[in-house]
Formats: sequence, C-alpha cells, structure tokens
Amino acid sequence: MLPLNESISQIEIYKSLFDHNHDACYALDLEGNFILFNNAAVKITGYSKEEILQMSFIPLVKEECLEKTIKIFDDILQGNSSKFNASIKHKNGHMIDLYITAAPIYIDNKITGIVGTARDITEKNNIEKLLSGQNAVLEMIAKGYPISRIFESIIQLVEEVSDGGKCAILVENDKKLYLGSAPNLPQPYTDMLNGVPIGPMEGSCGSAAYFKRPTFVSDIKNDPLWDHYRDIALENGLRSCWSSPVCDNQNGVLGVFAIYHDKPCVPADEHIQLIEKATHLTSLVIQHYRSEEKINFLAFHDELTKLPNRRFFNNKVNEAIKNKKNGKNEMLGLMFLDLDRFKLINDSLGHSVGDFLLKDVAQRITSCVRDQDLASRQGGDEFTILVHDINQMEAGIIAKRILEELSKPYCINGHEVYITPSIGISLYPLDGSNADELLRKADAAMYQAKKEGRNSYQFYQAEMDKKTYDRLELENELRKALDKNEFTLHYQPIINLSTNKVAGVEALIRWAHPRLGYVPPNRFIPIAEETGMIVSIGEWVLQTAIRQLKQMQSDGLLLSMISINISFRQFYQPNLINIVNQILEESGVDPNRITIEITESMTMDVESASTILHDLKKLGVKISIDDFGTGYSSLSYLKKFPIDYLKIDQSFIRDISKSNYDKNIAMTIILMAQNLGVGVIAEGVETAEQLEFLKLNNCTEAQGYLFSKPLSEKDLKQFLTESS
Ligand code: C2E
Ligand code: MG
Ligand code: MG
Repeated sequence: MLPLNESISQIEIYKSLFDHNHDACYALDLEGNFILFNNAAVKITGYSKEEILQMSFIPLVKEECLEKTIKIFDDILQGNSSKFNASIKHKNGHMIDLYITAAPIYIDNKITGIVGTARDITEKNNIEKLLSGQNAVLEMIAKGYPISRIFESIIQLVEEVSDGGKCAILVENDKKLYLGSAPNLPQPYTDMLNGVPIGPMEGSCGSAAYFKRPTFVSDIKNDPLWDHYRDIALENGLRSCWSSPVCDNQNGVLGVFAIYHDKPCVPADEHIQLIEKATHLTSLVIQHYRSEEKINFLAFHDELTKLPNRRFFNNKVNEAIKNKKNGKNEMLGLMFLDLDRFKLINDSLGHSVGDFLLKDVAQRITSCVRDQDLASRQGGDEFTILVHDINQMEAGIIAKRILEELSKPYCINGHEVYITPSIGISLYPLDGSNADELLRKADAAMYQAKKEGRNSYQFYQAEMDKKTYDRLELENELRKALDKNEFTLHYQPIINLSTNKVAGVEALIRWAHPRLGYVPPNRFIPIAEETGMIVSIGEWVLQTAIRQLKQMQSDGLLLSMISINISFRQFYQPNLINIVNQILEESGVDPNRITIEITESMTMDVESASTILHDLKKLGVKISIDDFGTGYSSLSYLKKFPIDYLKIDQSFIRDISKSNYDKNIAMTIILMAQNLGVGVIAEGVETAEQLEFLKLNNCTEAQGYLFSKPLSEKDLKQFLTESS
C-alpha cells in the first residue's frame, strides 16, 4: 500500500497522461455514455466537453462501423481489451478514420466502463488510397483504356477522400474547355460547362486556365468571377469551386481539374495537396492521349452516343459546301431529326432509360446512312445528318428509311418503348449557303413535320418561316386564353345503334379568339401539349365537363355518359389520378358516367400506361381508346389494359364505301372489340351508307355529322329534350 500523498501523486500522473495525451482519450460508462474526454478528443471530434458528456458513443460512429464497434465494446465489458479501426462523424459532418484502443475500467474488481485512446488516421488512409488509386490510373493509361474511363477513375479517387466534393475534369480545345468527365455533377450544369471559354472572368475554371494558376472560389454567391454563371451554379446546388489548371511540361494549358461543394468552403492544406495530385495525374493522362490524338475525339464527339458533335458537324457541312463550290453539281441534303415526346420518356421512365434510348437511336441512324454521309448529335434528342450528292427524291427515301428504322420498338430494362422521330430536310444550294442557314431551315421543316402529325418528314419551304411566326403568335395567345375565358366545351352526341338513343356525348374543346377567330383544336392542342399548357387546360376541361353534366342531370335531362379527351402529357402527369379523383369527389357525380378517352399512341410504354389505366379504373371511370387503328399494330398490349370502348378512327369510316382496305380494317376492329368484350364506337359517320355498313357488322355505337355536329351546351339541351 502506498502512503497517501504518493497515491495522490500517482492519480495526478494518470490524469496528466489522460488530459495531455496527443491522442484522443475517452472513458465510457456501462451504458456507453461518455464520462471523460480529453482536449485532443475535443479537437478531433469538434464537440466540446460539455456537449460530449451528454452523449453516448452511438451517434458518433459511422453507420457502417456501428455494429462492429458495439460488439467490440460488449466484449471489453467481459474483461478483454482491444484495438480496432472505425470511422466517426465530425460535428460538422465529415468522416474521420480512427485507430482506437479500448480496455475495461475496474473499480473494486468490478468492470464499470471502458477507457481508451483514438488516433486520427484519416490522412494516412487517404494517402494510402491515393497511392493505390494513382497506380491503378497509371496502369489504365498503360493498358490504353478509353480516356473517359480514366478520367472517371481519377474523379472517383478524389471524391472518395474529399468530404462530399464533386469533381470535374475539363479539356482544352481551341481556347475553350470541354467536358472530359463529371459523373456526379448535375446535368444542366455540365451541359453549360461544356464549351465554356477560357477568359479572365469565366468562373473558376475559365479563369484558372486563363491565368494558369489555381483559383479557389470559396463562395460562388458573392464572387465576381462567377457573374456569368452564378445563377446556374446556385440552381444546381453548387456553392464553392476550387479549380486548378492542368498544364503540360511547357506550361501550356491542357485543361482544368475542379472540385465543387454544396456549401461555401475554403480548401485546407490537405485539400490543396489532393488537388495538386489529381491535377498532376490528369496532366499525365491528357498528355499521353493528346500525343495519340485521341483527345480530338473528345472535343468533337458526343460522349453519350459517340456520334460527332455539333461543332464537328458544322465544320464538315461548311467543308462540303466549299467542295461543292469548286465543282460537282449534285446537291447536299441536311436533315434535322427530333424525337417526338422524348422528354416525356425521360420524365416518366428516368434519365438512364432516356440515355439508353438515345444510344440506340444513334446506332439506328448510323445504320441508315452511307459511310460517306455523316450523322451527328446536336444535343438533347436532336440529331442532324449530312447526306452527300443527292436529289430531293433520294433524300425523301433516306428520311423514310430512318423513320421506319426508328419506329421499331425499343426494349429497355424490360420496358417495351416506342418512339417516333420527325425529320426536316433542307438542301444545298436551294435553301441556303452555309451550315447555320441550312440547319435553321431544316429545323423549321422539322417543326412542320411535327405539326403534320409526327413520325413524318418535310422539306423546307419558304412559307415555313411565316408558319413559325404564326405558331409563336398562337402560343402567345394561348397562354392568356384560360384566364380570359376564351374556351368553351361543345358536345357531340354518341348514338347507341341498337336503340337509336343517345348513349352519351363527347366533350370537345372550342377556342374562340377575339382577333384570330375560331382556332380548331388540332391547331392549338399540339402547342398546348408541347408547352405544357395542356395540363391546366385539361384540368379545366375535366372540371367544366363534369360540372355541366351535373347541371344537365339536375335540369332533368337524360344524359347518362360524358366522354372526355385526355392528351398525352396529361396522361403521364404524375398527379393525374389525384386530380380526376378530386374533381369527381367535389362534384359528387357517379364516376361510372365518365369516360376518359386516350389515344393509342399514349400506350407506347405499355407498363406505365397499364398502371395509370388501372389506377383510373379504380376510380370507377370508363376508358376508351380513341382514333383506334392509326397507332401501332401490336395488339398484345390491348389485353393488358382495362378498356371499355374502342373508337374506330374516322379516316377508316370516311372511305368505307369506296375502299375495301378501310372496310376490312373497320370490320377487324369491330371483331376485335367483340372478342375483347368491349364496346366499339365509329367516329365521323356522315352518310346513311356508312351507318348501314356499321350496323350490318354489329358496331355498337356511332357519332358523326349524320346524327349531329358537336353542339353548344344550350343546343345540346335542346337536342336531348327533342330526342327523349
Ligand atoms: P377526336 O377526339 O377524335 O374528336 C373527334 C373529332 O371529329 C372532333 O373534331 C369532331 O368535331 C370531329 N367530327 C365529329 N363528327 C364528324 C364527322 O361526321 N365528320 C368529320 N369530318 N369530323 C367529325 P374536333 O372537335 O376538331 O377535335 C379534334 C381533336 O382534338 C379531337 O379528336 C381530340 O383529339 C382533340 N380534342 C378536342 N377536344 C379536346 C379536349 O378537350 N382535350 C384534348 N386533350 N383533346 C381534345
Ligand atoms: Mg375523342
Ligand atoms: Mg377520334
């Protein structure tokens, strides 16, 4: 037994060892709550002693390490001691790797807790990770991996050790910076980044390359370097950007390496070292590939589809024009191709499906053109094609071939997806004298093709410029039409062919503009669709039709059913079911009296369409497929859909008495409907002869001018009164 003052000094020694240790020292009670914590531990974790003494170790430990740590601590409470690695969360969120020792605390021979030390080994770990990553990158260069994959590896390596930073590698070409890789930055931002000029005020990257020195902007929000790019950076959640120029051995700029964070932050010493290492590695890669000229591929090609990009394409068109001027007199054809409704696929099925589709489309386009021709991606879902030495007829044949090839189904992640393109064509020297002009005109022709019903091609014609103007004007007026109350609904009676009674009515929207006059739905619905205005217009239609149905019922009129058209975009809007449900509930109308009309083309994504239709069906409404026979010939999906009616498209009814083909189609649709056990409605019935044919073939219902034109609410009331 030591004398009293000696045992006190021994306690002092232990206390000093604990308090002044360079390593973090801690003690826990039996429940795992902190009871002691030295200054080094405060420094490592960021928590004050007061804070930590209110906590247990559990919230501190990184989730992935928690189970292991609890097990080890349990073991220590059985009398063992241990040393192990684990990661913890610093108070401000970043991760720290620790080497931890732990031993039981004995008081009167009883275990009362755990005491131990912890050493910060984050930097050591990071250096090890970096070294082994660096070796892996060098090996990739040696093995000739594609440059984009090597860039991705460098980025992955840096992101792993950089506390939530997201990296970009940009490559210099012709005084601009092009995207080498930035797998984890938001796409709208990287789209903008691709092609930023090198200059004194061009964000962190452009100016780092310009001044050839690292440029660390700790807060984009108020740094003048970011004046041109601030909004898009902030919109995409980027708040700080540390850029470092990538130079070759002669101090020529090859590109830029950048790390972004979502909060304002200043790089610490270890971050600066990290950026230096990454920049050096990137420089090795670019120099190696530049010497092999592979880098050119990157600046001139689209990363996703590997097709030439817009710059390359424009150069080639101008080159071809120059050659033409020096001799040969055949024409050049320039095609502008845009995928119909691609955005909806992207929105409803996700970007990875969209990307997959674009790659497939690129391959199909390439397979349709000759080796000497050139297909490129302009961006988004737009492609351009340069065709050498052709006349108008040949250009038409190629366009048709592309339409056919692209309209075949795409199988992506188990989804069967259909998409159609629209193509505009301009010809040199007829339509323009340079690449820009020819492209603009092919674009205008493409617009016209879309208007004419998609999945078609059009040649440029001078009046298209006027049409583009008209369309813009219409779009402008359409934006105001809802607020100005310019829409009304008309109703066309649908007749039951066995009883000759009104089975229901179809609601059809009408737009009377004070200056433009009556604008037919086929003109403004596609614009409403493209601009997204259809969502609010469609909601207005649903609300108005159901309200007026209710009104007519309470006026004592016999109207059992109202049929409402839903457009493509409305159908795929995420809250369609809620909206329909809400309108139904508010009105108190029996859902059974409402039929929703969709068109065949909306069912291109069979799985999603089927889910939406079943959800609609659960609300109690009926479903009708409009313009049937004009869409895809695949009928297998019909069985998957809970439908109540097929509507034979009026184009088949029109020529029923003249064309055997149309007769056969109409008969086939009627038979098919019978087999499926659903009703069949003929549209556009104008003559007694057509009606006779339909009755003979057991068509159940019909609508058309023969019975009645679409009527205003007032005229419909009269019609219903007279026919009852
Ligand atoms: P739809 O749904 O196939 O409507 C039938 C169209 O045929 C209507 O044209 C109607 O007026 C017309 N029609 C009816 N009977 C005859 C006939 O005997 N002969 C001929 N030649 N035509 C007849 P409308 O009203 O111009 O509508 C055109 C298209 O616009 C509709 O085709 C529908 O796809 C769309 N639409 C109309 N109203 C709405 C709406 O409220 N919402 C949505 N999303 N689309 C609508
Ligand atoms: Mg319809
Ligand atoms: Mg129709």
